[in-house]
Amino acid sequence: MHDEYLTEEQLKTLKGMLEEQLESLLSQSREELNELVETREVDADPLDLAVSESNRDFTLRLADRERRLVAKIRYSLERIQSNEYGACEACGEPITYGRLMARPVATQCIDCKTEAEQVERRKRVF
Ligand SMILES: [Zn+2]
Repeated sequence: MHDEYLTEEQLKTLKGMLEEQLESLLSQSREELNELVETREVDADPLDLAVSESNRDFTLRLADRERRLVAKIRYSLERIQSNEYGACEACGEPITYGRLMARPVATQCIDCKTEAEQVERRKRVF
């Protein structure tokens, strides 16, 4: 059995998941940003300040990861718009529904992804 392209219904489900994830990520970073502002205003003690500085680094690192994920989700939504979503970027074959349900931002089929990871691993060895 070869892999099928997504049905209208499956596409709608995945689009909903992506939009939901995007919304929760965006509201989460808004909350973190608010906390950041509040901590800065309250802290006066130098020791507390040091703690809040390291918290701030952590928040910024986290925010960086979230920003990348947000970009990936937006990219996936764009691909849905342009009817490219669900096809592997590398070989053009369909990405299975099961794989997309587990990872809606996937842009490559499992074969290409595995190959890319192996190349990546080889690069790290040498
Ligand atoms: Zn592929």
